[in-house]
Amino acid sequence: MYELNEKLKTLTPYAPAEAEGMIRLDANESFLPLPEDALAEVREALGRLEFNRYPDPGARELCRAFGDYYGIPAENVVAGNGSDELITVLFSGFLQKGEAYATIEPDFSMYAFNGFVQEARHVALSKTADFRLDIDKLIETCNNENVKLLIFSNPCNPTSIVCPKEEVRRLVRGVNALVVLDEAYMDFSDQSLLPEFEEYDNLVILRTCSKAIGMAALRLGFAVAREELINAIRAVKSPYNVNTVSQLLGTAVLQGKSELEKARKTILRSREELIAELRRIEAGFPGRFHLLPGETNFAALTLPDGEALYRFLWEQGIAVRHTGGLLRVTCGKPEENKAFCTALERYLQK
Ligand SMILES: *Cc1c(COP(=O)(O)O)cnc(C)c1O
Repeated sequence: MYELNEKLKTLTPYAPAEAEGMIRLDANESFLPLPEDALAEVREALGRLEFNRYPDPGARELCRAFGDYYGIPAENVVAGNGSDELITVLFSGFLQKGEAYATIEPDFSMYAFNGFVQEARHVALSKTADFRLDIDKLIETCNNENVKLLIFSNPCNPTSIVCPKEEVRRLVRGVNALVVLDEAYMDFSDQSLLPEFEEYDNLVILRTCSKAIGMAALRLGFAVAREELINAIRAVKSPYNVNTVSQLLGTAVLQGKSELEKARKTILRSREELIAELRRIEAGFPGRFHLLPGETNFAALTLPDGEALYRFLWEQGIAVRHTGGLLRVTCGKPEENKAFCTALERYLQK
């Protein structure tokens, strides 16, 4: 009789909350539809698409559109089936048997998941009490522990806090490891290392189309790095990882710079409104929760009764995330933010 190995026995499929019909502030998606121009272009292109042919393994048009939007050469870009896939590719290619990788907890759970499946040694570093990075300590521990791959998100999911770029530079320069800098939320902040990626031979920057760009359904992520690293990623990824429909639609959307800029501003406005309202509520209920100073498209709250608040909101038809000891609330449409704030006040008044 066949028996699953011990590793597989401990895993269960990822099952996001079944939030059909609810107010969805749980997954940090954009609340905006794609621009009509891009959709019209794709409908037209679909008619000409050769569905019997494999996609372009280099996703060249798509990488060019991404490079143009962010001002970097297309040669230094690899596209993935979501940045999730690129994380898996990086773990499988850049870690050898028995080698160590490090995360800075709390952080995006996919990192440790991939390390676990890869059977790599996990060095779980921690943030300071106020969720900042102690750069000197991180460098020291990574080097003492012989860490080969350090991965973290900036701004961070789930804390929403951004680490200033001078500090990230110091970290990248200080460690003897490949640094995977996940900038999934950097469209909402201004501390990107993208413009200077060429200066580091140990840096891979990840970006995604699932947040500010508003295409979570298409599964598009990107890695940006120097040529030696990019060629290595190209060589280790599966050849046809990004399907032709996603390549087409992604290209069309990334070429619409002014539409993207408009969407980004709309999301930032939603964040300002949500944050302002949360600050007001925090002042009215001193000590009940603490709002972290975020720079993403979500707000992060610390509170002792996070799980109870999560369940209360769920019963009110509002889905948020309770993870890493934080309550994470995605910025939504004005009426969604309002519904959340009203429910929160009702909970605090109980
Ligand atoms: C949402 C998110 C991603 C995006 O993953 P995709 O696979 O591109 O959808 C990556 N990293 C972090 C930290 C995220 O929160």
